[in-house]
Amino acid sequence: MTTDLAIQTQSLIKNYGAVKALRGVDLEVRKGEIFGFLGPNGAGKTTAIRCMLDLIRPNGGSLRVLGLDPQKEAVAVRARSGYLPGELNLEGNLNVEGALRLFARLRGNKTDWGFVRQLAERLDLDLKPQIKNLSKGNKQKVGVVQALMHRPELLLLDEPTASLDPLMQQTVLRLIRAARDEGATVFFSSHILSEVHEIAERVGFIRQGVVVEVAETAALISRSLRRVRVRFRQSVDSETLTRLPGVSLLSKDDGAALTLQVEGEMDALIKALAAFPVIDLSTEQHSLEEIFLTYYQ
Ligand code: ATP
Repeated sequence: MTTDLAIQTQSLIKNYGAVKALRGVDLEVRKGEIFGFLGPNGAGKTTAIRCMLDLIRPNGGSLRVLGLDPQKEAVAVRARSGYLPGELNLEGNLNVEGALRLFARLRGNKTDWGFVRQLAERLDLDLKPQIKNLSKGNKQKVGVVQALMHRPELLLLDEPTASLDPLMQQTVLRLIRAARDEGATVFFSSHILSEVHEIAERVGFIRQGVVVEVAETAALISRSLRRVRVRFRQSVDSETLTRLPGVSLLSKDDGAALTLQVEGEMDALIKALAAFPVIDLSTEQHSLEEIFLTYYQ
């Protein structure tokens, strides 16, 4: 297996009794990238992440994480990773600092407490209160801090911004980006498409336990469909335009205003439009959300 990959899964299968959670997942996450893992509820995102840390064992296929086999070297994989589970179970009677100290001890790593305090400050997280008295969002912040605090090579984050308010979501995204800038690889699952769009270089879509598409975020968007509205000074023959490759007619108002759908680049259409008296032109790109829905519907 290639060394420039932080994660590689081949035909990964996981069944929970009769439930086929992963039906042959193939994934390659490059070292140093932020990879967004998208999929509807129950698609297998959490299951895939848990296999990567050997928290559950797959029934088939192969898996390498940081060049290691998690089933043989789980301790090393976990020590070099930062994991934020979807639901973090913390000992309620500890205070925040105590819980973080426990994580540090379990990892057997020396912890830079200056960095921990910095992370807590950025997230506006008080280290003194007891875990059982924290709100859901503040518990999530503890989860984020424990995942990042040992500056791991690999971050496996299951919905990192869940339960956080929009400002804190932005802070977490900035922390994730900063970790990547320092060399970490980030693999995160999310339902929030705008954040995937914002920080992920590549996106993988999983549906019913199968990765159906992996794409560069930017390419996914540029390859997508665009809606183009054109208003002309007078009625035009729309066929000249709809004959162009990738262009189709969505609606026509009195022949002087057209709504077209354009797949891919706009160049041919723009050149063809130059032959007409155009008063106004607007384009609207399908959002990642719409692309997402096309995959899942
Ligand atoms: P979500 O976005 O809702 O968190 P997910 O993509 O993370 O979903 P998983 O939690 O991996 O999905 O679940 C994949 C499938 O496996 C689902 O059908 C789920 O019900 C099932 N599943 C997950 N954990 C278990 C378990 N411990 N026992 C039985 N079935 C399970």
